[in-house]
Amino acid sequence: MKEILNYINGHFQPAASGNTIDNIKPSTGEIYGTIPESGVEDIAQAVNSAEKAFPLWKSTPKEERSAILFRLADLIKENLEELAMAEAIDNGKPVSLAKAVDIPRAEANIRFYANAITQFSSEAHHMEIGAINYTLRKPIGIVGCISPWNLPLYLFTWKIAPALAAGNCVIAKPSEVTPMTAYLLSKLAKEAGLPDGVLNVVHGTGPSAGDAIISHPKIKAISFTGGTKTGQYIAAKAAPEFKKLSLELGGKNPNIIFADCDFDTMLDTTVRSSFANQGQICLCGSRIFVEESIYEKFRDAFVEKVSKMRVGNPELPETKMGAVVSEQHMNKVLEFVELAKEEGGKVLTGGVQVKLEGALQRGFYIQPAIIEGLSFDCRTNQEEIFGPVVTIMPFKTEEEVLKYANSTKYGLSATLWTENLSRAHRMAEHIESGIVWINCWLLRDLRTPFGGVKDSGVGREGGFEALRFFTEPQNVCVKY
Ligand code: NAD
Repeated sequence: MKEILNYINGHFQPAASGNTIDNIKPSTGEIYGTIPESGVEDIAQAVNSAEKAFPLWKSTPKEERSAILFRLADLIKENLEELAMAEAIDNGKPVSLAKAVDIPRAEANIRFYANAITQFSSEAHHMEIGAINYTLRKPIGIVGCISPWNLPLYLFTWKIAPALAAGNCVIAKPSEVTPMTAYLLSKLAKEAGLPDGVLNVVHGTGPSAGDAIISHPKIKAISFTGGTKTGQYIAAKAAPEFKKLSLELGGKNPNIIFADCDFDTMLDTTVRSSFANQGQICLCGSRIFVEESIYEKFRDAFVEKVSKMRVGNPELPETKMGAVVSEQHMNKVLEFVELAKEEGGKVLTGGVQVKLEGALQRGFYIQPAIIEGLSFDCRTNQEEIFGPVVTIMPFKTEEEVLKYANSTKYGLSATLWTENLSRAHRMAEHIESGIVWINCWLLRDLRTPFGGVKDSGVGREGGFEALRFFTEPQNVCVKY
């Protein structure tokens, strides 16, 4: 049994209540460890330690803060194998994916902000009457970072790196469903020389530890990634306290395929953008719209490839599709497949639980599903499923597909496949989403603004946007 502990004021400790939650391994369904069930008292301790650490950390030269973060990035790199395997065990994702994407990206996040803080400059505004304004960008103080289970270390570091680089002290809570790599990171943070109290990692459920973070009056900003409903709750709770909020929420992303696309590249990428991480990436394209003239060709080729995909033990290097994250989530995804059938959809492949052999027989495996025959506005095509289920639909014109693409309450990302440059730019401009990928998917430059519109979120992460979020601008006006 692996015991996870809170990291508060440089110490590893259980929850103040002594209570724990079971940590479940998705590939086998077995309990393989415990995590602290933290609450108000643990968050209060973490805030006290952050408050003590803040004066020194904010006045530490940025070059020194940067150097510590570089050491942390180096340690993530040195521990790649262990972290990747921990992620596979904790989340159910293939270890090959964790090794190629999650952990290198976690390292890149820390390295990026270690660099970015040394390049972050503030503005000055001259006035002709003889005055100059300059903007100070001060760290906010104590900030909360709350992350989800789908890309555990990747999204955890995406938040804490800019917060720490900007000189804040952090109270961070990873998802209780996938706490392991955040725990391992807290050990690496200590090893890297991050002063005690600067980063506090507190584990527990949303309603207990998470709520204590968003409710604490001394936590002045919250960076949250997770579901839209949770985001709504956090926004309502934080508003009367005037906390700064960054909310990265759910999505229902369109993948729009025109007949003039590079078919083979599109097909390979569409398999990935539909089912990478078992479809549990907020940026996966779950609604696939295909120009009528190639609809049948696409459907047949796509079904052929996807029906050959095999789920397997996430810990084996050859596995490409692992387990979904929990039994509850598996049941939710399978219920959506049933809903799709009730709504008149035809399941062309997959959509069923897969029972593997031996120790894996109680794991949470779903055969990836492709569904056709649904209208763009049915529930299956409007609600976030967040699993290995996609729908395919034909369209005739640009106007028609734009209407379909923009029909949901979400607006996180979109993918567009066409060799017609004018059309690509024209469409991109009219798609309601924070990100549009043209002839690619999940190609990320960490300098770019990242986030969603509509119910997919408020605010932007990435690049200097995150450093702006984690600092408070102050204008100083000098008359001469
Ligand atoms: P979730 O909202 O259930 O939980 C996310 C985090 O919030 C967890 O750490 C959880 O413990 C915490 N939480 C839950 N209730 C809380 C409360 N009342 N107060 C404070 N914290 C609370 O989401 P999830 O199921 O972990 O993640 C899946 C969702 O995340 C999907 O909707 C997905 O689209 C979204 N997501 C969005 C992005 C993005 O960048 N926009 C990225 C990844 C995932």
